[in-house]
Amino acid sequence: MSIPKASDKTLDRSGVRREHRLAVIGGDGIGPEVVEAGVEVLEALSRARPALGFALTRYDWSSERRLRTGRYIPEGGLAELKSFDAILFGAVGSREVPDHESLWGLRLAIVQSFDQYANVRPARVLPGVESPLSAGAAIDWVIVRENAEGEYAGHGGRAHRGLPIEVGTETAVFTRAGVERIHRFAFELARQRPKKRLTLVTKSNALRFGMVLWDEVFHELAAQYPDVRTDRELVDAVTARMVKRPESLDVLVATNLHADILSDLAAALSGSLGVAPTANLNPERAFPSLFEPIHGSALDIAGQGIANPIGTFWTLVLLLEHLGETEAAAALMRAIERVTEARVHTPDLGGTATT
Ligand code: ATP
Repeated sequence: MSIPKASDKTLDRSGVRREHRLAVIGGDGIGPEVVEAGVEVLEALSRARPALGFALTRYDWSSERRLRTGRYIPEGGLAELKSFDAILFGAVGSREVPDHESLWGLRLAIVQSFDQYANVRPARVLPGVESPLSAGAAIDWVIVRENAEGEYAGHGGRAHRGLPIEVGTETAVFTRAGVERIHRFAFELARQRPKKRLTLVTKSNALRFGMVLWDEVFHELAAQYPDVRTDRELVDAVTARMVKRPESLDVLVATNLHADILSDLAAALSGSLGVAPTANLNPERAFPSLFEPIHGSALDIAGQGIANPIGTFWTLVLLLEHLGETEAAAALMRAIERVTEARVHTPDLGGTATT
């Protein structure tokens, strides 16, 4: 299996206008602020390229809507969303709704229903941005996060509520099919990068079942990718390696929980949580993929107009690549780097710029 490219329709160079249909969900906190900044970027890209167009449909799915109507996603909402080429998402999380409800009510409802099992998180120190690491310039990683099962499979329960014998279980689920498809995705990605290195992140010393399956399937697949150099690292040890020997890592594949944590570390080592992008991909393109900055709703700075939009702009680069718009994606990445290099920084990067 190779990672499918965008359909011929989107790659058409015959002069026909390529119009991509995007669903735009700002969500909560700074989500709508950074997403609207992203929409301005898309409009600018399209103005400069007459053949490239975006048809945007905005959805007000948010915690405010959940409090008003009882639901994040209205009846029929997911079916409607399925018809889009891609989804641009801001963030979800509010003081009024418990985090596990907001996450499962909106973001995970889409990610799980649309089988977006490959979560891709590039990390790099952009020009003009300072890493807290002296060796930060060597950071050039892609974290591939298993996004459909593992620790976040939603498998578990509560019993005997309120009694001294109350119990809560949380079962991590690892299926051979689920493990194989994410490892294969990571191998295919590693193969396309100059270093062609792939690090298996695991915890199979302590977790004897699912994580051992995770490792076994990886090693079985490795035989099919002789051009990719592999190694294996325990999740605790890889945190130290990220800090001490960043140049020794390239692509990392990790479980849902492990990669969630590692990618926040990667974002912080790259200078700020505000610059890091994410793609939630359904590589088979049976469903639209969802693109979002790594950060959350950042309620502490919401409404002040100071949120860093770079994470969303870089996210748009991933979205454009997914749509086959490689030239526009490269142009946008160059523009982002020119801006960061000129130190047009929001306060999270030590500057005074507004969103
Ligand atoms: P979540 O649980 O959804 O990840 P959180 O509150 O734990 O939410 P974030 O919302 O990502 O995490 O915020 C963590 C910190 O990073 C906050 O102090 C926030 O202000 C800062 N931060 C996050 N994103 C940005 C951004 N785009 N620009 C500036 N600061 C940001």
